Amino acid sequence: MTADGRPTLGLIGLGIMGRPMGRNLMKAGYPLVVHDVVRAAVDELAADGARAGASPREVAAACDVLVTMLPDGPEVEAVYRGPDGAFEALRPGWLAIDMSSISPRVARDLAAQATAAGAEMIDAPVSGGDKGAIAGTLSIMVGGEPASFERALPILQAMGKTIVHVGPAGSGQVVKCCNQVVVAVVLEAVSEALVLGSKAGVEPARIVEVLQGGLASTRVLEMRAPNMLSGSFDPGFRIRLHLKDLKNALELAREIGVPLPATVEVEQLMQAARVAGREDFDHSGLITVIEDLAAHRISGASA
Ligand code: NAD
Repeated sequence: MTADGRPTLGLIGLGIMGRPMGRNLMKAGYPLVVHDVVRAAVDELAADGARAGASPREVAAACDVLVTMLPDGPEVEAVYRGPDGAFEALRPGWLAIDMSSISPRVARDLAAQATAAGAEMIDAPVSGGDKGAIAGTLSIMVGGEPASFERALPILQAMGKTIVHVGPAGSGQVVKCCNQVVVAVVLEAVSEALVLGSKAGVEPARIVEVLQGGLASTRVLEMRAPNMLSGSFDPGFRIRLHLKDLKNALELAREIGVPLPATVEVEQLMQAARVAGREDFDHSGLITVIEDLAAHRISGASA
């Protein structure tokens, strides 16, 4: 705790998202203790004024509120429940905010374990990408107790702009699954439309221009058309991570009995992209799979 009452924060997971989020937390005046399995990532934030912690347990013991930004459920479980994990320092009054995109079931389990020990835990996955993380304008969907949300809010405001409490523990992850289903299915729809129009002989940039003026307009096309039109797919948001989010959405759907036929299809197309060695393409690279099926590249490159 600082003299002006700000909690000391921990941050574990210093990747594409975690590093800029950590910088924004420090900019907002929070003392920060950080950890990652990649030493260079820790050194980078330490150079900006963060303190390094040797393990998740050490970071958790040194902070009032722990923020995590890790790839998926297995890494989140390892960081909280593994040997030298954060939960070895679990104590009444301590708060954990997991901002990774993981399965709602894992989020609920972890929150229950924290609560049983008198601590608090919320799930707070984000959308807005690395640009939103750098600008501090992420959209954040929060699941957990209302009092924990209120306590976390000033911290989340240092990283995001639209911050919504969506329900009890696990609900933030449910909404994140909904978000990723929409983005995936729309990516497939615009891929099909552009390959159809282009192979039929119309300039794809003209198709985008017209679609964006009517009912078919979509932010996915606004943000991703440049990649699709040029055939360059530097990430951005990797196909590998989108596949992981669809796995979590389909797991939730199976658990509660909701068929997601379109999502299953896009998941299979993303698997095809992965098999073709494109899992580190931006997810707009999904169009290359539709292009392969049609033996036609909209960028004019040879298919
Ligand atoms: P990333 O792979 O760049 O970063 C993850 C970090 O976690 C890495 O630095 C890695 O070394 C670290 N890590 C992994 N296992 C660890 C362990 N056991 N202990 C300590 N550190 C460990 O991923 P990212 O792009 O920063 O994404 C993080 C999360 O945010 C993911 O769940 C992703 O789906 C979600 N997300 C990403 C974006 C995006 O545009 N990149 C957008 C929204 C949400």
